[in-house]
Amino acid sequence: MNDCIFCKIVAGEIPSNRVYEDELIYAFTDIAPKASVHVLVIPKQHIARLDHANQEHASLLAHMMLSLPKIAESQGLKNGFRTIINTGPGGGQEVDHLHIHILGGSKMPGFN
Ligand code: ADP
Repeated sequence: MNDCIFCKIVAGEIPSNRVYEDELIYAFTDIAPKASVHVLVIPKQHIARLDHANQEHASLLAHMMLSLPKIAESQGLKNGFRTIINTGPGGGQEVDHLHIHILGGSKMPGFN
């Protein structure tokens, strides 16, 4: 997807603060953090929304999910974290490339 900003981040065409990367996924800090730690975890493959994923993506989605704790811990979140997936306009999704928000730390809304 040529005009997808998160595909451009994966390709290195838009700068990002990378915190984790492997052959399937890429994680980077959110440009407008809503907590002291706010990371986005995305598949390198373009999947627009969670409800566009299907059985073909099962192992990729499992890999994303199972990677979250180690990414969170690498950012100093030793005591847990929050994950959010916004799906479609009804879910408040603004960037049409599937992403999982990891939020945590001292400024997390509702916890301080
Ligand atoms: P919302 O903005 O309602 O959280 P999304 O779930 O679609 O909607 O989240 C998109 C996220 O992507 C936002 O938190 C936004 O700050 C972040 N974002 C947008 N552009 C960039 C970018 N270039 N680098 C890092 N984060 C970005």
